[in-house]
Amino acid sequence: MSDESFKQLWFDGDHARHHATTPQDVQSQIQTLTQRTYELTVLVTTLVDLLAQANQVDANVLIAKVEGQLESEIQAMPAAVAPKGAMTHCARCRIELAMAQATMTASGLLCDRCVLSA
Ligand SMILES: [Zn+2]
Repeated sequence: MSDESFKQLWFDGDHARHHATTPQDVQSQIQTLTQRTYELTVLVTTLVDLLAQANQVDANVLIAKVEGQLESEIQAMPAAVAPKGAMTHCARCRIELAMAQATMTASGLLCDRCVLSA
């Protein structure tokens, strides 16, 4: 394959990823993400096993730590994981706002105004 046609393929693939328009596109994206998620799960499980076998850590402690960290990461960046254009409601004033603009707090997703007055 020439360098040029490889680039073409790459950009076409990139284009398709960002502009899924048909149910088939979305279906194949879900399949890819499911596969990636599975691979990451296997990776984490393997690392936990390896560390536990090397007696570096207690496997249960490590798993609990990973789960705790995941939870706080997800709460810390809802904007990054939320699809662009997704809408939500402020938990306090109920105003509708873009997910990307909402801030996750102990009392739920809040708009900027409610975050400042909290
Ligand atoms: Zn609000």
